[in-house]
Amino acid sequence: MSAPAPAPPMALLAELTHRCALKCPYCSNPLELERRSSELDTSTWLRLIDEAAAMGVLQISFSGGEPMLRPDIAVLVSRAVERGLYTNLITSGVGFAPEALERVAQAGLDHVQLSVQGVEDAAADHVAGLPGSAARKRLLAGEIARLGLRLTLNAVVHRGNVAQIPALVRLAEDWGAARVEIAHVQYYGWAVANRDRLMPTRAQVERATADLAAERARTAGRLVIDAVLPDYYASYPKPCMGGWGARHINVTPAGKALPCHAAETIPHLVFDNVRDRPLAEIWRDSAAFNAYRGTDWMRDPCRSCERRERDFGGCRCQALLFAGDAAATDPACRLSPLHADMLAVATRDSTADADAYVFRTPGRR
Ligand code: SF4
Ligand code: SF4
Repeated sequence: MSAPAPAPPMALLAELTHRCALKCPYCSNPLELERRSSELDTSTWLRLIDEAAAMGVLQISFSGGEPMLRPDIAVLVSRAVERGLYTNLITSGVGFAPEALERVAQAGLDHVQLSVQGVEDAAADHVAGLPGSAARKRLLAGEIARLGLRLTLNAVVHRGNVAQIPALVRLAEDWGAARVEIAHVQYYGWAVANRDRLMPTRAQVERATADLAAERARTAGRLVIDAVLPDYYASYPKPCMGGWGARHINVTPAGKALPCHAAETIPHLVFDNVRDRPLAEIWRDSAAFNAYRGTDWMRDPCRSCERRERDFGGCRCQALLFAGDAAATDPACRLSPLHADMLAVATRDSTADADAYVFRTPGRR
């Protein structure tokens, strides 16, 4: 009997471009950035939005790089609104005039996620690799408030700023955000090259966990605080993407459909391109989406584990990084034979005598 068709994805992450004015050393974009000349054109994105809505997707996030660098951003938002999708813009706030957001707001944008690198301008500018970037973000926050758009503040935290969680939450309050997302750096893409400069110590993570609890209590009923904690010091992995090919579909600037934005780090997978195949068909039938969907692909200890429907064996990219095998148990799990190795790497990197960041470079964009 063939496997039942998967439920449709809830969300589409539309990576419109890899171009970005910033150089974050933890950027999740791949090391080989897509060139502007290989980006999907407007008509292909419009078709994709139609296809996503028809297959039951509920939300579209326009991301990048910096999605506001696409001159057609308002056109794409408008089509998504027409098709009944909840629209979200994930922006660095830099590289465009704050007033440019008005056109996108008029197109019906529902929500903005604005990223910050820290609460002190000089340190935040250093991590972003661009002087003046923190001030630009403040200007955009003012514009978001003026336009009455719903705001989430995105803060990526690491060894250099993890102590700022209470201050980051206050910044979100000052800027009128309804939600703040505190995400510890995930170690793939550019972050792997900077792991010994970014990895927090176990004591820092414990302090961050306590800070989060205190801030949630202080802001209860006023602000939603979501957090992604690092799993290097954990006993069990995170349910990466809510399961491979279960809820999310990610389309790269050049049109590759991925189950997760880091999936291209798994070299044996071949990703279908939305230029060649309908989105619904890719979701249902493509080899890459079916490679780790559900639990049939698992080996022990995951195969016989009672948590397999809760965490889906963790992150495939992290398994590949440590085990050299994307079908292995995520080493963040205490049942993985590599769990102690992972902890040793975290302990070593968190106390490394770090020098300058390896900044994301424009490279082949
Ligand atoms: S993480 Fe930084 S460099 Fe990467 S896309 Fe976002 S703002 Fe740009
Ligand atoms: S063995 Fe696999 S399914 Fe069980 S907790 Fe560990 S990662 Fe999750």
